[in-house]
Amino acid sequence: MIECRGIQKHYGDYHALRGIDLTIRAGEFFSLLGPSGCGKTTLLRTIAGFEDIQSGVILIDGQDMDGVQANARPTNMVFQSYAIFPHLTVAENVGFGLRRDPRSKAEKAAAVEEALEMVGLKGYGKRASHALSGGQRQRVALARALILKPKVLLLDEPLSALDRKMREQMQVELIKLQRQVGITFVLVTHDQEEALVMSDRIAVMFEGQIAQLDGPEALYARPTSRRVANFIGVMNFLPAHVLGDTPDGVEVEVPGLGRVEIPAKNVSSKDPDDEGPSVGFRPEAVSLVGAGQPVQGRVTEGVIDEVVYYGDMTYYDVRLDGSASFDGKARPIRIAMRNVFGREVQDVGTRAKVSWSPGSLVLFR
Ligand code: ATP
Repeated sequence: MIECRGIQKHYGDYHALRGIDLTIRAGEFFSLLGPSGCGKTTLLRTIAGFEDIQSGVILIDGQDMDGVQANARPTNMVFQSYAIFPHLTVAENVGFGLRRDPRSKAEKAAAVEEALEMVGLKGYGKRASHALSGGQRQRVALARALILKPKVLLLDEPLSALDRKMREQMQVELIKLQRQVGITFVLVTHDQEEALVMSDRIAVMFEGQIAQLDGPEALYARPTSRRVANFIGVMNFLPAHVLGDTPDGVEVEVPGLGRVEIPAKNVSSKDPDDEGPSVGFRPEAVSLVGAGQPVQGRVTEGVIDEVVYYGDMTYYDVRLDGSASFDGKARPIRIAMRNVFGREVQDVGTRAKVSWSPGSLVLFR
Protein backbone atom coordinates (compact mmCIF):
# COMPACT_ATOMS: atom_id res chain seq x y z
CA MET A 1 0.00 0.00 0.00
CA ILE A 2 2.83 2.36 0.89
CA GLU A 3 6.34 2.12 -0.40
CA CYS A 4 9.11 4.47 0.69
CA ARG A 5 12.44 4.24 -1.07
CA GLY A 6 15.54 6.13 -0.03
CA ILE A 7 13.69 8.96 1.70
CA GLN A 8 15.99 11.84 2.72
CA LYS A 9 14.66 14.86 4.57
CA HIS A 10 16.62 17.88 5.77
CA TYR A 11 15.38 20.79 7.84
CA GLY A 12 18.12 23.27 7.00
CA ASP A 13 21.29 21.63 8.34
CA TYR A 14 19.36 19.04 10.30
CA HIS A 15 19.18 15.62 8.67
CA ALA A 16 15.80 14.34 9.92
CA LEU A 17 15.29 11.27 7.68
CA ARG A 18 18.40 9.41 6.60
CA GLY A 19 17.48 6.96 3.93
CA ILE A 20 14.13 5.37 4.82
CA ASP A 21 13.19 2.19 2.94
CA LEU A 22 9.86 0.79 3.99
CA THR A 23 6.94 -1.21 2.65
CA ILE A 24 3.58 -1.08 4.42
CA ARG A 25 1.11 -3.74 3.33
CA ALA A 26 -2.52 -3.16 2.49
CA GLY A 27 -4.80 -3.65 5.50
CA GLU A 28 -2.07 -3.81 8.09
CA PHE A 29 -1.79 -1.95 11.36
CA PHE A 30 1.68 -0.51 11.13
CA SER A 31 3.50 1.54 13.76
CA LEU A 32 6.44 3.91 13.64
CA LEU A 33 8.01 3.69 17.08
CA GLY A 34 10.94 5.59 18.48
CA PRO A 35 12.12 8.13 21.03
CA SER A 36 11.26 11.81 20.77
CA GLY A 37 13.00 13.47 17.85
CA CYS A 38 13.80 10.29 15.89
CA GLY A 39 11.82 11.48 12.87
CA LYS A 40 8.67 9.37 13.09
CA THR A 41 6.28 12.32 12.82
CA THR A 42 8.33 13.72 9.96
CA LEU A 43 8.03 10.41 8.13
CA LEU A 44 4.27 10.29 8.69
CA ARG A 45 3.86 13.87 7.48
CA THR A 46 5.99 13.05 4.47
CA ILE A 47 3.65 10.19 3.56
CA ALA A 48 0.67 12.51 4.09
CA GLY A 49 2.20 15.10 1.77
CA PHE A 50 2.66 17.83 4.40
CA GLU A 51 6.45 17.79 4.02
CA ASP A 52 8.68 17.92 0.96
CA ILE A 53 11.53 15.48 0.71
CA GLN A 54 14.95 16.13 -0.79
CA SER A 55 15.25 12.70 -2.36
CA GLY A 56 13.51 9.36 -2.50
CA VAL A 57 10.24 8.01 -3.79
CA ILE A 58 6.89 7.48 -2.08
CA LEU A 59 4.34 5.23 -3.74
CA ILE A 60 0.84 4.88 -2.33
CA ASP A 61 -1.27 2.14 -3.84
CA GLY A 62 1.23 1.96 -6.69
CA GLN A 63 1.01 5.64 -7.53
CA ASP A 64 4.04 7.96 -7.30
CA MET A 65 3.19 10.76 -4.86
CA ASP A 66 5.78 13.16 -6.24
CA GLY A 67 3.99 16.48 -6.78
CA VAL A 68 0.67 15.16 -5.41
CA GLN A 69 -0.79 17.58 -2.83
CA ALA A 70 -1.83 16.29 0.59
CA ASN A 71 -5.54 16.68 -0.13
CA ALA A 72 -5.23 14.71 -3.36
CA ARG A 73 -3.57 11.71 -1.65
CA PRO A 74 -5.58 8.64 -0.65
CA THR A 75 -4.57 9.27 2.97
CA ASN A 76 -6.14 11.00 5.92
CA MET A 77 -4.51 12.05 9.13
CA VAL A 78 -5.69 12.06 12.75
CA PHE A 79 -3.67 14.40 14.92
CA GLN A 80 -2.63 14.23 18.54
CA SER A 81 -4.48 17.48 19.26
CA TYR A 82 -7.73 16.21 17.63
CA ALA A 83 -8.29 19.62 16.00
CA ILE A 84 -12.06 19.41 16.20
CA PHE A 85 -14.06 22.61 15.93
CA PRO A 86 -15.56 23.47 19.32
CA HIS A 87 -18.33 25.68 17.89
CA LEU A 88 -19.69 22.90 15.66
CA THR A 89 -21.83 19.97 16.76
CA VAL A 90 -20.44 16.46 16.71
CA ALA A 91 -22.27 15.70 13.44
CA GLU A 92 -21.02 18.93 11.82
CA ASN A 93 -17.48 18.05 12.82
CA VAL A 94 -17.72 14.54 11.43
CA GLY A 95 -19.34 15.73 8.21
CA PHE A 96 -16.88 18.58 7.75
CA GLY A 97 -14.95 16.88 4.97
CA LEU A 98 -18.15 16.24 3.00
CA ARG A 99 -18.88 19.94 2.41
CA ARG A 100 -18.15 19.69 -1.31
CA ASP A 101 -19.47 16.17 -1.65
CA PRO A 102 -22.23 16.10 -4.30
CA ARG A 103 -24.40 13.66 -2.33
CA SER A 104 -27.79 14.78 -0.93
CA LYS A 105 -28.13 16.11 2.58
CA ALA A 106 -29.90 12.96 3.71
CA GLU A 107 -27.18 10.73 2.26
CA LYS A 108 -24.49 12.76 3.99
CA ALA A 109 -26.39 12.60 7.28
CA ALA A 110 -26.57 8.82 6.92
CA ALA A 111 -22.81 8.68 6.27
CA VAL A 112 -22.20 10.78 9.40
CA GLU A 113 -24.41 8.47 11.45
CA GLU A 114 -22.58 5.43 10.09
CA ALA A 115 -19.18 6.94 10.96
CA LEU A 116 -20.37 7.83 14.47
CA GLU A 117 -21.64 4.32 15.01
CA MET A 118 -18.29 2.93 13.90
CA VAL A 119 -16.48 4.83 16.65
CA GLY A 120 -19.07 4.07 19.32
CA LEU A 121 -20.77 7.49 19.29
CA LYS A 122 -24.15 6.53 17.85
CA GLY A 123 -26.72 9.18 18.73
CA TYR A 124 -24.15 11.82 19.70
CA GLY A 125 -24.53 13.85 16.48
CA LYS A 126 -26.45 16.78 17.97
CA ARG A 127 -24.16 17.25 20.93
CA ALA A 128 -21.90 20.26 21.29
CA SER A 129 -18.26 19.33 20.63
CA HIS A 130 -16.80 21.50 23.39
CA ALA A 131 -18.59 19.45 26.04
CA LEU A 132 -17.02 16.13 25.03
CA SER A 133 -14.46 14.19 27.05
CA GLY A 134 -10.98 13.61 25.68
CA GLY A 135 -11.82 10.09 24.60
CA GLN A 136 -14.99 11.24 22.85
CA ARG A 137 -13.13 13.99 21.02
CA GLN A 138 -10.66 11.44 19.80
CA ARG A 139 -13.53 9.33 18.49
CA VAL A 140 -15.00 12.35 16.69
CA ALA A 141 -11.63 13.01 15.07
CA LEU A 142 -11.48 9.36 13.98
CA ALA A 143 -15.00 9.43 12.59
CA ARG A 144 -14.20 12.61 10.68
CA ALA A 145 -11.21 10.92 9.07
CA LEU A 146 -12.98 7.62 8.35
CA ILE A 147 -15.99 9.22 6.67
CA LEU A 148 -13.75 10.21 3.76
CA LYS A 149 -12.93 6.52 3.23
CA PRO A 150 -9.17 6.94 2.84
CA LYS A 151 -7.06 3.96 1.77
CA VAL A 152 -4.63 4.82 4.52
CA LEU A 153 -5.32 6.38 7.91
CA LEU A 154 -2.31 8.13 9.42
CA LEU A 155 -2.43 8.52 13.21
CA ASP A 156 0.02 10.83 14.96
CA GLU A 157 0.14 9.89 18.65
CA PRO A 158 -3.67 9.90 18.71
CA LEU A 159 -3.99 8.59 22.25
CA SER A 160 -1.21 10.43 24.02
CA ALA A 161 -3.48 13.06 25.57
CA LEU A 162 -5.72 10.46 27.24
CA ASP A 163 -5.28 9.08 30.72
CA ARG A 164 -3.94 5.56 31.08
CA LYS A 165 -7.27 3.75 31.45
CA MET A 166 -8.90 5.55 28.56
CA ARG A 167 -5.80 5.01 26.44
CA GLU A 168 -5.86 1.27 27.02
CA GLN A 169 -9.56 1.13 26.19
CA MET A 170 -9.07 3.15 23.01
CA GLN A 171 -6.16 0.92 21.96
CA VAL A 172 -8.43 -2.09 21.93
CA GLU A 173 -11.17 -0.14 20.16
CA LEU A 174 -8.77 1.09 17.50
CA ILE A 175 -7.63 -2.47 16.77
CA LYS A 176 -11.25 -3.59 16.41
CA LEU A 177 -12.08 -0.60 14.25
CA GLN A 178 -9.12 -1.22 11.99
CA ARG A 179 -10.17 -4.85 11.51
CA GLN A 180 -13.72 -3.76 10.81
CA VAL A 181 -12.92 -1.13 8.20
CA GLY A 182 -9.92 -2.97 6.74
CA ILE A 183 -8.08 0.28 6.01
CA THR A 184 -4.29 0.43 6.37
CA PHE A 185 -3.46 2.23 9.63
CA VAL A 186 -0.08 3.85 10.22
CA LEU A 187 0.43 4.91 13.82
CA VAL A 188 3.17 7.10 15.26
CA THR A 189 3.95 6.42 18.89
CA HIS A 190 6.83 6.70 21.34
CA ASP A 191 5.12 4.19 23.65
CA GLN A 192 6.57 0.73 23.11
CA GLU A 193 3.73 -1.00 24.92
CA GLU A 194 1.17 0.74 22.73
CA ALA A 195 3.04 -0.33 19.60
CA LEU A 196 3.29 -3.95 20.81
CA VAL A 197 -0.40 -4.09 21.68
CA MET A 198 -1.74 -2.60 18.49
CA SER A 199 0.52 -3.39 15.57
CA ASP A 200 0.87 -6.13 13.00
CA ARG A 201 4.35 -4.78 12.34
CA ILE A 202 6.52 -2.10 13.88
CA ALA A 203 9.39 -0.03 12.52
CA VAL A 204 11.69 1.08 15.34
CA MET A 205 13.40 4.34 14.46
CA PHE A 206 16.46 6.07 15.88
CA GLU A 207 17.95 9.26 14.49
CA GLY A 208 16.14 9.29 11.19
CA GLN A 209 16.79 5.63 10.39
CA ILE A 210 14.91 2.38 10.80
CA ALA A 211 16.77 0.18 13.27
CA GLN A 212 14.46 -2.84 13.00
CA LEU A 213 11.21 -3.69 11.28
CA ASP A 214 9.38 -6.74 12.61
CA GLY A 215 6.22 -8.09 14.17
CA PRO A 216 5.73 -7.40 17.89
CA GLU A 217 6.78 -10.87 19.03
CA ALA A 218 9.95 -10.98 16.96
CA LEU A 219 10.85 -7.46 18.04
CA TYR A 220 10.44 -8.37 21.69
CA ALA A 221 11.99 -11.83 21.64
CA ARG A 222 14.70 -11.30 19.02
CA PRO A 223 15.79 -7.67 18.87
CA THR A 224 18.59 -7.27 16.36
CA SER A 225 20.53 -4.79 18.48
CA ARG A 226 20.97 -3.95 22.15
CA ARG A 227 19.58 -0.51 21.46
CA VAL A 228 16.31 -1.90 20.16
CA ALA A 229 16.26 -4.44 23.01
CA ASN A 230 16.56 -1.65 25.55
CA PHE A 231 13.95 0.52 23.89
CA ILE A 232 11.41 -2.33 23.78
CA GLY A 233 11.21 -3.10 27.49
CA VAL A 234 13.86 -4.44 29.82
CA MET A 235 16.61 -6.85 28.86
CA ASN A 236 19.41 -8.36 30.96
CA PHE A 237 22.85 -8.46 29.35
CA LEU A 238 25.81 -10.61 30.34
CA PRO A 239 29.21 -10.51 28.63
CA ALA A 240 29.84 -13.53 26.39
CA HIS A 241 32.95 -15.13 24.95
CA VAL A 242 32.27 -16.53 21.52
CA LEU A 243 33.78 -20.02 21.23
CA GLY A 244 32.72 -20.71 17.66
CA ASP A 245 29.99 -21.55 15.19
CA THR A 246 28.13 -24.83 15.42
CA PRO A 247 25.83 -26.41 12.81
CA ASP A 248 22.76 -24.94 14.60
CA GLY A 249 24.07 -21.71 16.03
CA VAL A 250 26.93 -20.28 18.03
CA GLU A 251 28.62 -21.65 21.11
CA VAL A 252 29.46 -19.13 23.81
CA GLU A 253 30.83 -19.11 27.34
CA VAL A 254 28.93 -16.78 29.66
CA PRO A 255 30.27 -16.21 33.19
CA GLY A 256 27.40 -17.10 35.49
CA LEU A 257 25.62 -19.31 32.95
CA GLY A 258 28.41 -21.50 31.59
CA ARG A 259 28.70 -22.88 28.08
CA VAL A 260 25.63 -22.30 25.93
CA GLU A 261 24.71 -22.95 22.35
CA ILE A 262 22.64 -20.03 21.05
CA PRO A 263 20.24 -21.02 18.24
CA ALA A 264 21.10 -19.37 14.90
CA LYS A 265 17.80 -17.46 14.76
CA ASN A 266 18.70 -15.72 18.04
CA VAL A 267 22.05 -14.42 16.85
CA SER A 268 22.20 -10.67 16.22
CA SER A 269 25.05 -8.33 15.49
CA LYS A 270 26.31 -5.98 18.14
CA ASP A 271 26.15 -2.20 17.90
CA PRO A 272 29.43 -0.47 17.07
CA ASP A 273 29.58 1.09 20.54
CA ASP A 274 28.87 -2.14 22.47
CA GLU A 275 31.76 -3.13 24.72
CA GLY A 276 31.89 -6.67 23.36
CA PRO A 277 29.68 -9.65 22.56
CA SER A 278 26.87 -10.23 25.05
CA VAL A 279 23.88 -12.43 25.61
CA GLY A 280 20.55 -10.84 26.44
CA PHE A 281 17.35 -12.20 27.95
CA ARG A 282 14.08 -10.74 29.12
CA PRO A 283 13.24 -10.76 32.87
CA GLU A 284 10.38 -13.21 32.27
CA ALA A 285 12.52 -15.57 30.20
CA VAL A 286 14.20 -16.79 33.41
CA SER A 287 12.52 -17.95 36.58
CA LEU A 288 13.19 -18.52 40.22
CA VAL A 289 12.76 -22.10 41.28
CA GLY A 290 10.81 -22.35 44.54
CA ALA A 291 11.64 -24.90 47.22
CA GLY A 292 10.53 -28.38 46.19
CA GLN A 293 9.56 -27.27 42.67
CA PRO A 294 10.66 -29.31 39.70
CA VAL A 295 13.33 -27.68 37.56
CA GLN A 296 12.92 -27.08 33.85
CA GLY A 297 15.82 -26.23 31.58
CA ARG A 298 19.19 -25.31 33.01
CA VAL A 299 19.83 -24.01 36.50
CA THR A 300 22.18 -21.42 37.88
CA GLU A 301 22.41 -20.33 41.49
CA GLY A 302 22.70 -16.91 43.01
CA VAL A 303 21.69 -14.59 45.83
CA ILE A 304 18.57 -12.44 45.87
CA ASP A 305 19.65 -8.80 46.03
CA GLU A 306 16.32 -7.02 45.82
CA VAL A 307 12.63 -7.91 45.76
CA VAL A 308 9.93 -5.61 44.38
CA TYR A 309 6.37 -6.81 44.84
CA TYR A 310 3.73 -5.52 42.41
CA GLY A 311 0.69 -7.59 43.31
CA ASP A 312 0.42 -9.54 40.07
CA MET A 313 4.18 -9.70 39.57
CA THR A 314 7.31 -9.80 41.68
CA TYR A 315 10.63 -8.53 40.37
CA TYR A 316 13.76 -10.12 41.78
CA ASP A 317 17.28 -8.85 41.28
CA VAL A 318 19.58 -11.84 41.58
CA ARG A 319 23.36 -11.86 41.68
CA LEU A 320 24.36 -15.00 39.81
CA ASP A 321 27.34 -16.97 41.14
CA GLY A 322 30.37 -16.35 38.97
CA SER A 323 28.74 -13.73 36.76
CA ALA A 324 30.51 -10.61 35.56
CA SER A 325 29.80 -7.46 33.65
CA PHE A 326 31.92 -5.51 31.21
CA ASP A 327 33.47 -3.31 33.88
CA GLY A 328 34.26 -6.32 36.07
CA LYS A 329 31.60 -5.53 38.67
CA ALA A 330 29.01 -8.27 38.81
CA ARG A 331 25.52 -6.80 38.50
CA PRO A 332 22.35 -8.60 39.37
CA ILE A 333 19.99 -9.79 36.69
CA ARG A 334 16.29 -8.97 36.85
CA ILE A 335 13.76 -11.77 36.98
CA ALA A 336 10.02 -11.19 36.61
CA MET A 337 7.75 -13.77 38.21
CA ARG A 338 4.00 -13.86 37.88
CA ASN A 339 2.58 -14.29 41.38
CA VAL A 340 0.37 -17.29 41.87
CA PHE A 341 -1.52 -18.14 45.01
CA GLY A 342 0.30 -20.57 47.20
CA ARG A 343 3.76 -19.58 46.01
CA GLU A 344 5.68 -17.53 48.50
CA VAL A 345 7.64 -14.46 47.61
CA GLN A 346 11.30 -15.22 48.32
CA ASP A 347 13.37 -13.04 50.64
CA VAL A 348 16.23 -10.66 50.05
CA GLY A 349 19.59 -12.20 50.95
CA THR A 350 18.53 -15.80 50.45
CA ARG A 351 20.12 -18.17 47.97
CA ALA A 352 18.01 -18.95 44.95
CA LYS A 353 17.95 -21.28 41.99
CA VAL A 354 17.37 -19.63 38.62
CA SER A 355 16.15 -21.72 35.70
CA TRP A 356 16.55 -20.70 32.08
CA SER A 357 16.79 -22.21 28.64
CA PRO A 358 19.30 -21.46 25.85
CA GLY A 359 16.42 -20.84 23.42
CA SER A 360 15.43 -17.66 25.23
CA LEU A 361 18.87 -16.07 25.01
CA VAL A 362 19.83 -13.68 22.26
CA LEU A 363 23.49 -13.28 21.29
CA PHE A 364 24.78 -9.89 20.18
CA ARG A 365 28.16 -10.67 18.63
P1 ATP B 1 8.24 13.52 18.80
O1 ATP B 1 7.73 12.23 19.36
O2 ATP B 1 8.90 14.37 19.85
O3 ATP B 1 7.24 14.27 17.97
P2 ATP B 1 9.46 12.57 16.37
O4 ATP B 1 10.22 11.34 16.34
O5 ATP B 1 8.10 12.55 15.84
O6 ATP B 1 9.45 13.14 17.84
P3 ATP B 1 9.96 14.62 14.47
O7 ATP B 1 8.84 15.51 14.89
O8 ATP B 1 9.80 13.86 13.24
O9 ATP B 1 10.34 13.66 15.65
O10 ATP B 1 11.26 15.50 14.37
C1 ATP B 1 12.51 14.93 14.00
C2 ATP B 1 13.58 16.02 14.14
O11 ATP B 1 13.38 17.03 13.16
C3 ATP B 1 13.58 16.69 15.49
O12 ATP B 1 14.91 16.87 15.91
C4 ATP B 1 12.91 18.02 15.22
O13 ATP B 1 13.43 19.01 16.08
C5 ATP B 1 13.26 18.29 13.77
N1 ATP B 1 12.18 19.05 13.12
C6 ATP B 1 10.90 18.65 12.96
N2 ATP B 1 10.17 19.56 12.29
C7 ATP B 1 11.02 20.58 12.01
C8 ATP B 1 10.88 21.83 11.32
N3 ATP B 1 9.71 22.20 10.78
N4 ATP B 1 11.97 22.61 11.23
C9 ATP B 1 13.16 22.22 11.76
N5 ATP B 1 13.35 21.07 12.42
C10 ATP B 1 12.31 20.24 12.54
